[in-house]
Amino acid sequence: MKKLLPTSTSGSLPKPAWLAQPETLWSPWKLQDQELTEGKQDALRVSLQEQQQAGIDIVSDGEQTRQHFVTTFIEHLSGVDFENRKTVKIRDRYDASVPTVVGAVSRQKPVFVEDAKFLRQQTKQPIKWALPGPMTMIDTLYDDHYHSREKLAWEFAKILNQEAKELEAAGVDIIQFDEPAFNVFFDEVNDWGIAALERAIEGLKCETAVHICYGYGIKANTDWKKTLGSEWRQYEEVFPKLQKSNIDIISLECHNSRVPIELLELIRGKKVMVGAIDVATNTIETPEEVANTLRKALQFVDADKLYPCTNCGMAPLSRQVARGKLNALSAGAEIVRRELLAKS
Ligand SMILES: [Zn+2]
Repeated sequence: MKKLLPTSTSGSLPKPAWLAQPETLWSPWKLQDQELTEGKQDALRVSLQEQQQAGIDIVSDGEQTRQHFVTTFIEHLSGVDFENRKTVKIRDRYDASVPTVVGAVSRQKPVFVEDAKFLRQQTKQPIKWALPGPMTMIDTLYDDHYHSREKLAWEFAKILNQEAKELEAAGVDIIQFDEPAFNVFFDEVNDWGIAALERAIEGLKCETAVHICYGYGIKANTDWKKTLGSEWRQYEEVFPKLQKSNIDIISLECHNSRVPIELLELIRGKKVMVGAIDVATNTIETPEEVANTLRKALQFVDADKLYPCTNCGMAPLSRQVARGKLNALSAGAEIVRRELLAKS
């Protein structure tokens, strides 16, 4: 029988201090060349082991080989000039200096496929691999070539599809696309954003997921959240169309956030990765708090479709806090698993 409530994380985990400055986003590497290559692999092994020791069921690389969830992927593509930078507003929220699209974008070689093969060699557990989503990619660039967000997103979707097919061949079980931009540009999401995502998963046989969150616990995000009022209903704008999409799993922020849990009813039928760990605080959840969030979600998600997860990535947290949160996630899921089995 398939395990009920399989746990996973939504993305990044902290890096060891010998690889990159801890508790920092965009932290520069501390190693170079061959040492860096080996250091990333060693960090991936450590991250995997920490997930396994915490009892996480669907494991990942903890994003140990990337500096940033969007930019590291884009760095491997041609058509983007990283020297030629412009300041743009990202996700309608904060200014950032970003690279410029100067020509047709293309993927000359695989980006994460070797890393995924390496992870596959280390474990027989199901593995999940995260890629940036097309809309979030275009929102992190200045476009001086296509002059159309939709056109550029479509080109990225084709590139992501090439990468995803190779990740699938490398043995990845779930490919996840990170689309925090889906929480901001509702009209575009409904016009072409979900279509672009479906282009990115075209022809895949493995499971696919989309992760939509309110971001890391950085100041730009916490300031933005203060403007969102007492109820965060952003998901309501995109759920109806996502429910009808070909995406298998939807990964969401649920714990400690002001998302009304009943919005999950709008995606009934989909598998849902329910964020039951807050990544914007160092306070470690108790197993009972995690269980409570999962019980609330169970009112709207069938038990065989519920995947306990974190709200977002944990890269900016200390390793100790992240480890505590992984343990809490496992313990909380186990409480609810026992309740479900007792009932059946
Ligand atoms: Zn996230």
